[in-house]
Amino acid sequence: MRNFSKTKIIATIGPSSWDKNTIEEMYDNGMEIARINASFANQNEIERVTKTLREVSPRIAIMLDTQGTKLRVVDVNKEIRVEGKVSLSSANQSVSNSIKISYPDLHNTITRNTKIFLDDGTIELTVEDIKGSEIICNVLQPGILKPNKTVNIPEIDLNFPVFTEKDEEDIRTAIENKLDFICVSFVRNAQDILYAQELIKGTNIKIIAKIENRTGLENFDEILEKTDGIMIARGDLGVETPLENIPIIQKQMIFKCRSVGKPVIVATQMLESMRENTNPTRAEVSDVANAVMDGADTLMLSAETSTGKNPIQAVKTMAEIAKNTENVMQLTTIYGRTSCSREVDEICRSVAVLSESIPLKGIVVISDQEDTIGSITRHRPNVPIWSISSSISRIRQDLLYRGVKTYHIKDLPDDRDESTLLAIQTIYTHGELDLGDKIAIISGSSIKNKDSDIILEITTIKDILNQ
Ligand code: PEP
Repeated sequence: MRNFSKTKIIATIGPSSWDKNTIEEMYDNGMEIARINASFANQNEIERVTKTLREVSPRIAIMLDTQGTKLRVVDVNKEIRVEGKVSLSSANQSVSNSIKISYPDLHNTITRNTKIFLDDGTIELTVEDIKGSEIICNVLQPGILKPNKTVNIPEIDLNFPVFTEKDEEDIRTAIENKLDFICVSFVRNAQDILYAQELIKGTNIKIIAKIENRTGLENFDEILEKTDGIMIARGDLGVETPLENIPIIQKQMIFKCRSVGKPVIVATQMLESMRENTNPTRAEVSDVANAVMDGADTLMLSAETSTGKNPIQAVKTMAEIAKNTENVMQLTTIYGRTSCSREVDEICRSVAVLSESIPLKGIVVISDQEDTIGSITRHRPNVPIWSISSSISRIRQDLLYRGVKTYHIKDLPDDRDESTLLAIQTIYTHGELDLGDKIAIISGSSIKNKDSDIILEITTIKDILNQ
């Protein structure tokens, strides 16, 4: 029986963690979802890592994070000191002695006084003048520029397709290997999400929108309406928007996601110092705890587990902080509307409230339909929500929601009473319930028919098991 924090943990898989033993240990210490970052993986690696993850457990959800179009400096072959004044130009222009940028004809888009950030914001420039295709900049924050470093120009709406050729090939690999989530990097609007959904049409894959640029922030509401979930990608966001805004943006986005019952991930630098150290800093512990208190469904480890020295310890530490924080948290009901009917939303809210006042040992949701889990878990009840489904991908995808434990029952009967008995027997035999426990069960009158009436039953385990 897995008994980690209610808040879920994504661990990014990389050279530090892609061997089977490390994955096993990370899974045994609370990792529920594995992320493959396509910025550092080709299709062979996506396949290889997926195979290893599936060997460790078919219950681990797998997320492919697309590389997307990230502007970079090109043709910089050695470290250069950037200070005083520098000249930039697009890689498709022949301007000698300039730093080349991987965006065509930038001189036609950019204007004087525009800020340009290099290497995740460590070097800051402002455009002084544009002469032909040469962009002359004053260096506001000097630094050493290494090959292939990132370029951010938050004030400009850059025009590029949401997916590169590599992204589309990676997505095809994800479809062939039945991955569970695809994260769309640098999402700008609802159109980007609709394009991604078109690409995965006919599969069970869920789309996660990574909010990491100014346009994505501005169009957050329309993106949330279309996507299956949100990642607050604080790394790039911290360059595209003033750093001091990040905690506020985090709280606002989490609240909005909860309102509509869609899962929300807080990402990047949560336990950054654990790349090197076995213990986190006090500030990192606070960051993880505060994300839990903000109401995040899921927390993400990036370099800590992909290239860091202590991947297993990082997962363990994150799970411990989250669990400890959850112990002091109260249920907070939320009143927005999810994609469920009003009746389902109201029943889910009532169950969450009942879970404290009766009190209940847990809430069992038996359904092959998707939305009910989001409608309950958004209230953050303090008891487990057991999701029972005959679909293994659905079971893995439900792991992204706070507080949701899952059981896969392959041949779930359509008859409600039969499926209830089977579900409770399954949870009971895994030692998660006692005969005297009271629980709530939510299901359809028919399990497979989406339009069947929703039934809420409050009962004790011994009554169902007839003991
Ligand atoms: C981020 O920018 O916070 C992020 C998660 O993206 P990546 O790790 O792909 O840079």
